[in-house]
Amino acid sequence: MAVPKRKISKTRGRKRRTHWVAKAPQVGTCTQCNAPILPYRACPECGTYKGRNVISVKGA
Ligand SMILES: [Zn+2]
Repeated sequence: MAVPKRKISKTRGRKRRTHWVAKAPQVGTCTQCNAPILPYRACPECGTYKGRNVISVKGA
């Protein structure tokens, strides 16, 4: 197993971590029902994806 040759200093580790930023997930709207949806996922409200019905949703 590969092992780092030298210890990474506190400063270096902290510098690397300054670029790590937690972002809010992208939220779009459904083209069918305008509900907020996550990208590349079928709409949980009406069960459509790219204008096609892909999953059956109860009460829809
Ligand atoms: Zn929808």
